[in-house]
Amino acid sequence: MSKKVFIKTYGCQMNVYDSKRMADVLKPHGYEVADEADGADLVILNTCHIREKAAEKVYSEIGRLRAEKDAKAAEGKNMYIAVAGCVAQAEGPEMMKRAPAIDMVLGPQTYHRLPDMLKSAEEQRTGGRRSARVLDTEFPAEAKFDFLPDDSDFDGPAAFLTVQEGCDKFCTFCVVPYTRGAEFSRPVADVVAEAKRLVAKGVVEITLLGQNVNAYHGDDGDGGSATLGGLIKELDKIDGLGRIRYTTSHPRDMDQELIDAHRDVTSCMPYLHLPVQSGSDGILDAMNRKHTREEYFAIIDRLREARPDLALSSDFIVGFPGETDEDFEATLDLVRRVKYAQAYSFKYSPRPGTPASTSEDQVPEDVKSERLARLQALLNEHQLEFNEASVGKEMDVLLEREGKLPGQLLGRSPYLQAVHVNTRPAGRRHDNALDAGGDKPYTEFMGRLVRVKIVEAGPNSLKGELVSALN
Ligand code: SF4
Repeated sequence: MSKKVFIKTYGCQMNVYDSKRMADVLKPHGYEVADEADGADLVILNTCHIREKAAEKVYSEIGRLRAEKDAKAAEGKNMYIAVAGCVAQAEGPEMMKRAPAIDMVLGPQTYHRLPDMLKSAEEQRTGGRRSARVLDTEFPAEAKFDFLPDDSDFDGPAAFLTVQEGCDKFCTFCVVPYTRGAEFSRPVADVVAEAKRLVAKGVVEITLLGQNVNAYHGDDGDGGSATLGGLIKELDKIDGLGRIRYTTSHPRDMDQELIDAHRDVTSCMPYLHLPVQSGSDGILDAMNRKHTREEYFAIIDRLREARPDLALSSDFIVGFPGETDEDFEATLDLVRRVKYAQAYSFKYSPRPGTPASTSEDQVPEDVKSERLARLQALLNEHQLEFNEASVGKEMDVLLEREGKLPGQLLGRSPYLQAVHVNTRPAGRRHDNALDAGGDKPYTEFMGRLVRVKIVEAGPNSLKGELVSALN
């Protein structure tokens, strides 16, 4: 009889990818993915350390799960609780002590060992323990990717593919170098093989993932190493792969080969997430970002020269320790100059163990809130302007799922805008859609790239009419 695993994913796209791969690892051991924790034999919380009070949120979730675990135990059944991801990596032993309901704690680099951990947990339970005690947060010598099975299930036409992990930059606010370890890049051949398997299953768009993805330097199979630009050129040769994206990039690693890829590789999407965090040189220095605002502008100029239709997004931290009014004004000035299509902005909050967390120059909360509101108002204004500029244009949209209205499908533009696509041209009464040659049910277009005319724009999405199918 098959067993059920429920995986709750917090945080970034890399955790989404890791959760999927954990399901792949468990599948040969009889585990099917469940949609909810109720009735699951194994619950994995794949945690993220970026947000404030991340660990507290995990503890309260474990409190809820413990009731379920106890109810199952009363019926003579087992339920295992595992905590994975960056909180597990950072606070594993402490979590084991504080929450006895946890059976397993595993870091982002050890989830390929899940079956062994489960076996050990099961043996401990058979030996009479209510909870097992398995902790594996090493940075093992073996690369986990070599131990992951090949057979990820198809999960829509847009997929993530991790090509790089870890970070050597040590920004003073960030835990990633401590939780994910040193930079590691997968060999080109392994990435290409995984991409081909995804495309064979119907994937049309791949987002290459890495904490510092453009620091990629994977073995090229020829005694050297490939840059991310070189990798993108290799992936572009795969028939059926229509779109390539990558995230998250660091300005320092935006090399010429990658900029050239934006000019030369049509499948490389004209949209780039290039976090700057602050527009002030003093704060950039205090953050240890290793570049100035002028260097950032210069990179953007080169990118826009190579690909004039390129749109940008960024992350911002406001109220970093020591940030003055002038520093914050410099951030607003940078935003006005770059004009982002989209951006994420947060108030600085200290992460234990990072250098900035112990700074005595913390900015008061009310000042942070006021600055964040001003920054977000400006970013939202630019985002709306960018979306409104799409109206009347035709663009390619990858349709990913059904919309809320009959005949409507939801997809993404080249710039990652959500697009609600009406597949029934005006004047048609029946449940068919235009397909450049005949009538077909509108769901025919699911998972495909289509040409869409944008007719309306809002702050967070666009509406468009189907023009023709492309693939
Ligand atoms: S480059 Fe990114 S992942 Fe690395 S330390 Fe800085 S913010 Fe964290």
